[in-house]
Amino acid sequence: MKETLQFQTESKELLNLMINSIYSNKEIFLRELISNASDAIDKYKFLAFNSNGTIPFKEGEIHLSYDETNHTITISDNGIGMSKEDIINNLGTIAKSGSKDFMNKFKEAKEKQDINIIGQFGVGFYSAFMVADKVEVLTKANNEPSYLFSSNGKDNFTIEEKEKDDVGTIITLYLKEDIEDENYSQFASRWKIEELVKKYSDYVRYPIKMTIVNKVLKKDENGKEIENEYENVYEEKTLNSMIPLWKKNKSEVEEKDLNEFYKAKFNDFEDPLFSLFVKVDGVITYSSLLFIPSHAPYNLYSENYEKGLQLYAKNIFIKDKCPELVPDYLKFVRGLVDSDDFNLNISREILQSSPILKKIANNVEKKIIDELKKTKENDFEKYKKFWNIYGEHIKYGLYSSYGEKSDLLKDLLVFPSLNKENNDYISLKEYVDNMKENQKFIYFAAGDTIDSIKLLPQLEKYKKEEIDVLLLDKKIDEFTLMVLAKYMDKDFKSISDETLNEEINQEEKDKIDSLSVNHKRFLDNIKESLKDKVDNVVFSSKLIDSPVCISTKQGLSLNMERTLDEQKGFEDETPRAIKTLEINPDHDLFKALIKLENNDEDTKNYASILYDEALLLEGIEIKDKHDFVKKLNEVIVKSINK
Ligand code: ADP
Repeated sequence: MKETLQFQTESKELLNLMINSIYSNKEIFLRELISNASDAIDKYKFLAFNSNGTIPFKEGEIHLSYDETNHTITISDNGIGMSKEDIINNLGTIAKSGSKDFMNKFKEAKEKQDINIIGQFGVGFYSAFMVADKVEVLTKANNEPSYLFSSNGKDNFTIEEKEKDDVGTIITLYLKEDIEDENYSQFASRWKIEELVKKYSDYVRYPIKMTIVNKVLKKDENGKEIENEYENVYEEKTLNSMIPLWKKNKSEVEEKDLNEFYKAKFNDFEDPLFSLFVKVDGVITYSSLLFIPSHAPYNLYSENYEKGLQLYAKNIFIKDKCPELVPDYLKFVRGLVDSDDFNLNISREILQSSPILKKIANNVEKKIIDELKKTKENDFEKYKKFWNIYGEHIKYGLYSSYGEKSDLLKDLLVFPSLNKENNDYISLKEYVDNMKENQKFIYFAAGDTIDSIKLLPQLEKYKKEEIDVLLLDKKIDEFTLMVLAKYMDKDFKSISDETLNEEINQEEKDKIDSLSVNHKRFLDNIKESLKDKVDNVVFSSKLIDSPVCISTKQGLSLNMERTLDEQKGFEDETPRAIKTLEINPDHDLFKALIKLENNDEDTKNYASILYDEALLLEGIEIKDKHDFVKKLNEVIVKSINK
């Protein structure tokens, strides 16, 4: 019986986009279908291997054929095949997550004509509809009836039982009619197919065979060729070289091979930023291909992003995403690991706790970090590209290891700095190498954006004295430096750190001391008025143009307090920064305020304006805006009515 089923809504929309072709590169459909076939063979082999002999082992093979007259191509494999349920779930549903997020990204990408984003989605099978107006899939899974799926890629598809003897899948594409600037019929030709297989699928580990028809002159009974009489001679030809790329010698593999491999294997249209070919032969033996995509995978930050590398054992596919192979902070790395040291029928539980896996993982991590360090030294422009996309992951790696990975990762850190033009980055090494003669600390300033940080009152002194300051505009930055604590024996110091007030010369110290004695009543009044908000009120020596600022005790800064506040759940009490309000004694505002010296009431009133001003200058929201505005208005009214 033939059943007609509807595509999922999302699938329909996607098919529509697909048919109206956002891919400029239609020819990749063959690569996609061959790669599915190869995956299906991998899965069959895995199944057979773990079946205790109940499922027969067979050599994997992909077979292509074409019909020049009827404009069809078939791709058949002896892989795992699909049950009826599989067909509905796998071919009737797009990108299994099926989420709106997917479609939104997709539409966005289409608007921006950004095929690179589209390339990140697993739309493999559907790409057939770019060149075909009908696709048939005849498939049989082990111990299941065989089925024919058929669809024109529009609203629905049909499924019916149909005879097929062997386990595996045969996909037939009925190519679209040629139109003015689209030549679809070329895909049903020997030369085009050979070209595409060589170009995109050469490394596929199973033979991709095609029956080639050669027209040759007929021969008579004496073996002599008869003029003008031709016959068809069929020849089976293997089109790909089959050696997995990672099994080749390193010297045979060029960067462009790695890049092509990456694009085909991981559905990306763009070359990766880094391609790494690792071969380790020693206590453990493994080969690995590692890639850092040149754009973050679209769902990297979503909860259902799965990290991991593909795992092969002795050239046999074991697992698609083996999370144990990469640490969380490198979750954007893609690639595969093949090791002869694994037992093939290793169970998942054993795998997870396998010491070999752990060793390989450590080694892979080190290789990636080494490569990044090398790039940072030799090609800083490229490194910056990497950093702009993935820098926060590296910081997270350092932070979340509580220091364990400090030595490994500290040299990867770069930051914008006060003295660097155009928000360019400085490394910690470069910073330390260029420190002033008597400079004790590596200074940093933190805030929301580089522009707003540059306006911080506390920076005024550093600008004047041309002391460089790291500018931290990412939430994780301060936490990372807190964990790192030191670099080349130099402590990190926030320019908001209260203790910096002690770093001044004797003359300034005396001045501040005598001011504090002379204006004790003023300070006490302000302190009293702000006792719920700040822990201390002092005169500052570091401000030049600004009237006030807030400094904090070593440990938690205002910026960190804000970050923790944003992240806290409803009940959690987050730790508070210990704050000091610093007042610039050279500022006109102070000079005016001390005229109120004996007017305790007014002094207290102005205190909260001072505090709110300081918060504003720090780029932090004031909590009671209403109160701030009311007090400000009182001041204006008073000054006009005077
Ligand atoms: P992806 O390969 O990215 O998962 P596809 O749309 O290409 O997405 O394929 C969807 C699913 O359909 C595959 O994951 C697989 O389960 C199934 N499939 C596709 N082609 C075959 C095939 N030749 N044999 C068996 N299963 C297949």
